Amino acid sequence: MSTLSNIIENDTMEKIALEFIRLGDRCYLDNAGATLYPQCLLKSINEDLLNNIYVNPHTDKYTQDCLEQIRYRILTHFNTDSSNYSVVFTSGTTQSLKLVGESFKFAMDKNEVLNCGSLVYLRDNHTSVLGLREIAAEKNVDIIHISHEDFLETLNANEVSPSTNCREEYKNKGNTLLVYPAQSNFNGYKYPIDCLKIIKEGCINQYTKKHLSKINCNWYVLLDAACYVSTNKLDLSIVQPDFVCLSFYKVFGYPTGLGALLIRNSSADVLNHKKYFGGGTVDIVLSSEDFHVKRKTLHERFEDGTLPFLSIVALKHCFDAMTKLIPKVINNDIMETISHHTFNLAKDLYCQLGKLHHKNGDKAVVLYMDSDFTDIRKQGAIVTFNLMREDGTFIGYSEFQHLADLFNITVRTGCFCNSGSCQRHLKASNEEMKDMYKAGHKCGDDIDLIDGKPTGAIRVSFGYYNTYNDVDKLMTMICRCFVRANYKKPKRLSNNIIMSKSPNHIKYICTVDDKQIANEPAYIDEKYTAAHTVLTSGTVLSQIALFPVKSCGAFKITTSWKIGRKGFEYDREWMIVKDNGVCLTQKQNTRMCMIRPKIDLKRKVMTLYFKGLAPISVPLDPVGNKHKEVTFCQSKVCTDLVKGYDCGDEVANWISNALEVSYLRLIKQASIDNRIQKRNANDDKKLLSLSNQAQFLLINKATVRWLNDKIQESLFTDDIDQLIDRFRGNIIITMDEELVERHWQRVIIGRHEFKVDGECRRCQMVCIDQQTGEKTVEPLRTISEQFAGKLCFGIYLSYIGTVDGSTDRIMKINTPIKPIINDDDISRFKDWFYLYFLGNCVCPSEMSSNKQNNYLMTN
Ligand SMILES: *Cc1c(COP(=O)(O)O)cnc(C)c1O
Repeated sequence: MSTLSNIIENDTMEKIALEFIRLGDRCYLDNAGATLYPQCLLKSINEDLLNNIYVNPHTDKYTQDCLEQIRYRILTHFNTDSSNYSVVFTSGTTQSLKLVGESFKFAMDKNEVLNCGSLVYLRDNHTSVLGLREIAAEKNVDIIHISHEDFLETLNANEVSPSTNCREEYKNKGNTLLVYPAQSNFNGYKYPIDCLKIIKEGCINQYTKKHLSKINCNWYVLLDAACYVSTNKLDLSIVQPDFVCLSFYKVFGYPTGLGALLIRNSSADVLNHKKYFGGGTVDIVLSSEDFHVKRKTLHERFEDGTLPFLSIVALKHCFDAMTKLIPKVINNDIMETISHHTFNLAKDLYCQLGKLHHKNGDKAVVLYMDSDFTDIRKQGAIVTFNLMREDGTFIGYSEFQHLADLFNITVRTGCFCNSGSCQRHLKASNEEMKDMYKAGHKCGDDIDLIDGKPTGAIRVSFGYYNTYNDVDKLMTMICRCFVRANYKKPKRLSNNIIMSKSPNHIKYICTVDDKQIANEPAYIDEKYTAAHTVLTSGTVLSQIALFPVKSCGAFKITTSWKIGRKGFEYDREWMIVKDNGVCLTQKQNTRMCMIRPKIDLKRKVMTLYFKGLAPISVPLDPVGNKHKEVTFCQSKVCTDLVKGYDCGDEVANWISNALEVSYLRLIKQASIDNRIQKRNANDDKKLLSLSNQAQFLLINKATVRWLNDKIQESLFTDDIDQLIDRFRGNIIITMDEELVERHWQRVIIGRHEFKVDGECRRCQMVCIDQQTGEKTVEPLRTISEQFAGKLCFGIYLSYIGTVDGSTDRIMKINTPIKPIINDDDISRFKDWFYLYFLGNCVCPSEMSSNKQNNYLMTN
């Protein structure tokens, strides 16, 4: 059995894993986003709430006492007590920060103009800290930001001679609030927190002096501990920041919406500028006169309204569950044990990524770290990086994200709400950041590269439930998808700590053997040799495919089919909806592709087929008022509500059976529901069926064949038709040249003219084998490789009309196709069409495709 941790015993790790069986084979590596709660936690919370009566603490002394005990428990967790610190419950870190900002007395008196105080913040703070600027600006406060390097340098320089006490005469002129993170949420770097004394003594004055003429001596530290406390011990008996903020879901996974602001009692007076009051925060208030007195007890003054008392009650169980699950291996402390366990996992990954090379010897990974994992006091359990291709270009994070999804690995990509660190590590200037914004990149989107430069990164963060198996899963995926190497698990010692007497000097052996990865022998080299079928010359429509039920199997047409108002008739007119009203897609349930619909126009029914079940039919057009009208969400981002009809219980049960999911319903889009195509919102409006993007998707068989030749994965055994099926196109064309369709502006198929609406962006859906529902890595990996990370394949079309003004809407297989690259082409084509075809009354589709094509091409 392989080693799971080198801190916690395998048996214990296995017991912990039982608390997270809901993960299945999902590998969760976004602990810094939110950690996961253990199952036993919810059980004990439920039991408590089922058996006890908790009511509004303003009413009930018992509930109030419980809350007081939990405050005490929180303080104990941080190794302090109520004589030193007070706990103010908030909705989370962000609210805690805001509360300090609003309440902080920057200037000694309101009329002070020169010494109005300062807000000093590290540029590498979380976005929630940057927002304090706005509050400070309103209070007329000097706003100073310090770079990562300057901050560390200032603190280090003074570690040697911390005697830069400012002169008495300058004292008490204004207050400075310094805000910095105990641990960066970008890459896990731990900023020094044992330097509060020298900060208070004014060591940063030297730095701020460069920016301002006056010296400010009253320093207060607001420590953003949100990221730090999730996997580290914060000991407030050793370090005593004035204010500490945190969110509990980052520590325990549950409850959300609850955080704390810890206020050092001796610093509380400076928070006397709080304006708003509400709920139980006053001793007296008159409703008809501007008179109120805030409560004396610190937390009572800050906690407006009724506390989320049930969530706070849950916290007790959070501490209990942690105590029950995690052994005290290091320093007889749970958090220290978590800290070392997760640090080692991250270090293992860091070492492996650092050594990952392409076949040509170039590095495959760019790490965005500020420490090298040699000192746990400077680094937490986070690794942040980007991947490089063999040719030295960057792999975009959203491309990575798609493949990680496929492997069921959850990581965070982008800038993780820390634009300062992101900018510093990606080496982007303010101008470049603004240019990226102008180019259309916004926080949280999937524009991962602009001009080849990354706009964000990949962040992996570990929690106590993670093991070396998770590191292996991630490395396997990276090696397979981006380095073309077989991953070999490094040998890890079950306990490679060398304990010395002082716990601060725990040393580690780097867990990865250098040679193992460098000498990696088994690159996948054999080229996939696809049998080249002889091309028939000419450009023709070779197949029409409908997907009557969104995300289910194709109905392939071999003769002809009618173009409707929203695309092909009956294409994506039905959808399967879950009990929460949201549409089910193949991404969530790969079995959907094995439901094969057939449209029978004579009998006016759609019949659904599924292996092992008797076929079932539903009418093409629901009649009368037998069918319940419903509205539902087309996607999980419920931006457009769709109107439809429920197709009844019988087919609903049949589908639930086939997909092995309860309470599914089949919905037919109502004909009155006229959804407008998103992309063309400004110009001519096109109606859409339930397809996500466009009316039609065109796939060029030659491009698919070209792609198939590029795929090197030996395990990928699709033939051309199978590969075509994965792209779920409506219009499949045959031609000689590959990739040319990307440059088309319009296309004429027979007498029907279409406008090209751009390329189709791909997701992991193309990795689902449409015959079996199995997931594979290809072809997404090769698509991203060939198109420099742009996951595009196929082009979207919308219908313009017939070129000859005819009302015929039938499209026939084997019809010739004329691509139009610019507008000159189109007028010439139309002249030609009228002259030769209509003049002679020859319909194109009646000619042999070869002959016809010669006309088209030579024209
Ligand atoms: C998560 C985080 C925050 C924001 O916390 P919320 O719970 O979203 O309010 C702030 N700072 C750091 C360092 C964080 O990691």
